[in-house]
Amino acid sequence: MPSKSAAYFERAAKVLPGGVNSPVRACKSVGCEPVFIERAAGSRMWTVDGLELIDYVMSWGPMLLGHADGSVREAAVAALDKGASFGAPCPDEVELAELIRSIMPSMEMVRMVSSGTEATMSAVRLARGYTKRDKVLKFEGCYHGHSDGFLVSAGSGVATLCIPGTPGVPDAIAAQTLLAPYNDLAAVEARFAAHGADIACVIIEPVAGNVGLIPPARGFLEGLREICTKYGALLIFDEVITGFRVALGGAQARFGVTPDLTTLGKIIGGGFPVGCYGGRREIMEHIAPCGPVYQAGTLSGNPVAMAAGLATLKGLMQSDYAALEARTKVFAEDMAELLRAKGQPVTLNHLASMFTLFFTDTPVTDYEAAKTANSATYGEFYRQMRGFGVNLAPSGFECAFTSFAHTDADLRKTLDAVRQVRL
Ligand SMILES: *Cc1c(COP(=O)(O)O)cnc(C)c1O
Repeated sequence: MPSKSAAYFERAAKVLPGGVNSPVRACKSVGCEPVFIERAAGSRMWTVDGLELIDYVMSWGPMLLGHADGSVREAAVAALDKGASFGAPCPDEVELAELIRSIMPSMEMVRMVSSGTEATMSAVRLARGYTKRDKVLKFEGCYHGHSDGFLVSAGSGVATLCIPGTPGVPDAIAAQTLLAPYNDLAAVEARFAAHGADIACVIIEPVAGNVGLIPPARGFLEGLREICTKYGALLIFDEVITGFRVALGGAQARFGVTPDLTTLGKIIGGGFPVGCYGGRREIMEHIAPCGPVYQAGTLSGNPVAMAAGLATLKGLMQSDYAALEARTKVFAEDMAELLRAKGQPVTLNHLASMFTLFFTDTPVTDYEAAKTANSATYGEFYRQMRGFGVNLAPSGFECAFTSFAHTDADLRKTLDAVRQVRL
């Protein structure tokens, strides 16, 4: 008898391309089929076949308080009882905006949207409208959602000439994006020396999380701040992952570097589809209806999502980030040691409640280094861990996320699973 997950996946493949609504969920890069999830609570998820999983994906980051957190659920249900969507202003969007500003003072004004993709896309439009320049500098391996200009890779060694990384993106749009290696200030200087007058903004994940975890080198973010100020370009921190995670106040609080614009997502929706961009009032007032840069959304500031976001941030304000970071560090180091004891080369990158175990000896400070990790070994590791009841990211180039709901018993049980893995 095929499993229920397999049966769903077979049906799904007939109506959803690849059987999924977001590519990595298909588990292709780890060489197996996905499991379908019936429900989740705390640190756990249960598949439709009744397999219990300790989860380290946590919906790719949003569930920092744990799955189905009681206060978030209560707030969302109470909001839903009053109507799912009004298409008109509601009190909670003001409350949430004020709370975000109090936690991240650089976000003097914000605009709510419905996804991280929308947030970054809109922030770049605003940066272009504000500076009256067209080019955007991004970093190799950083992910900023799927809008056209971000889906580029370096063309045949000519780093400043971008070609689209996917069919469907016009060359003319890709050509507006400049690339530099992560943690490489000299490369950023060189791009500005060549194109400084045309660069509207630099956008960066202040802690890279989409090629596995790569922390910023000492002085890197400060250097970007200086270069942007010098050339009159805006610095955009894409804190869709790092916001409310690497510290309550995000990477900008943790590293003490103030961006001009910030994009948020994931955690601020508490599991509902929300994104947000914001920054200095003087820049944000260029957004319609205050200013000429157009951006709108039918479900933006959705009352249920706003209520869930508010409850999430309030829960996080009561949470002990230092303790979670310390526990995650020991846990990740133990995991790395167990894998090394099996003869595997492992480079561990850890920050706050995020970590990545790269199957490589090379220190991972940029995308090139991340690519030296052995994907096949990660795939084997992923499949065996899932069999032992542990859900890791279905790609070696992602972060593992812990949450405030992960108990010491969860972490111990996970390490027991690692002990049983054969690589
Ligand atoms: C997930 C992510 C996005 C895109 O957010 P979506 O809600 O998936 O559209 C943008 N930037 C970063 C850094 C992300 O991790």
